[in-house]
Amino acid sequence: MPPTRWAVLSVAAALATIALKLAAFRLTGSVGLLSDAGESLVNLAAALMALFALWYAAHPADRDHTYGHSKIEYFASGIEGTLILVAGGGIIFAAGFRLFHPTPLAALGTGLAISLGAAAINLAVAQVLLRVAHRSRSIALEADAQHLMTDVWTTVGVVAGLGLVLVTGLTWLDPLLALVVGLHILRAGGLLLWRSFQGLMDTALAPSDVAVIVQAIEDCLEPGMTFHELRTRRSGARQFADVHVLVPGEHSVHDAHRRATTIEQAVRTALPATEMVVHVEPLEGHRTTATPVALAASQSETQT
Ligand SMILES: [Zn+2]
Ligand SMILES: [Zn+2]
Repeated sequence: MPPTRWAVLSVAAALATIALKLAAFRLTGSVGLLSDAGESLVNLAAALMALFALWYAAHPADRDHTYGHSKIEYFASGIEGTLILVAGGGIIFAAGFRLFHPTPLAALGTGLAISLGAAAINLAVAQVLLRVAHRSRSIALEADAQHLMTDVWTTVGVVAGLGLVLVTGLTWLDPLLALVVGLHILRAGGLLLWRSFQGLMDTALAPSDVAVIVQAIEDCLEPGMTFHELRTRRSGARQFADVHVLVPGEHSVHDAHRRATTIEQAVRTALPATEMVVHVEPLEGHRTTATPVALAASQSETQT
């Protein structure tokens, strides 16, 4: 089943939980439960966003987007991180207001039961989505799942607070717990935003992945040959890399090209979903041009 189908599942979960949580709020009048329902509304928007991003990312490369469409996922997860921040802020605002304007609560038992049912739906869907997201390396789907998990924690926090209110009769526990949940949600949103930022900024691959690429290149080189200017970046579930390979100048274009192709294939085998481009240069008289990687390397050399 493609990731897009799984995203439909989270849209359905969002619709179901919104209905349940609004019912729980109307029964009890708890501001915690209202903020919980509000978060589910954000969930719905987020699920639709993930659905769109996955559908768009699945399009093959075309004339306008020759590197494919996978970067849309960072855009979607960035918007989703922002939505999560807004939800967290809204909950903190509502809780702060209720802290100073206490209101009696009603029918807590029923409200709690309904909320826990909604949380169970979210938990199940989130766990399924997380597994699919890791398998398909989709940050949009993972963002969607993370979002559902923050929703589960919201409900757990709110229900725990209301349970304490039920036992102790201290109504201020309801907004206090909502406040804690709000802070937790802010953190989740911030982290997601940070990862989206890194993806959009073409952050280099993890050092362990770069080491795999370096090893694959070196295995294809004969003594005397070398390489430099290795650049890497990630785009959603795909990786891109390019490198300069230096071969003896008397090699024919035919031989050099064959070696370049061998390297490209070796890298793709060592690190799947990696698109490698090799630029061939003669060993003799190679002038190092002031490319960004060369500049960065020379700067870090002078620093250390
Ligand atoms: Zn070069
Ligand atoms: Zn070629």
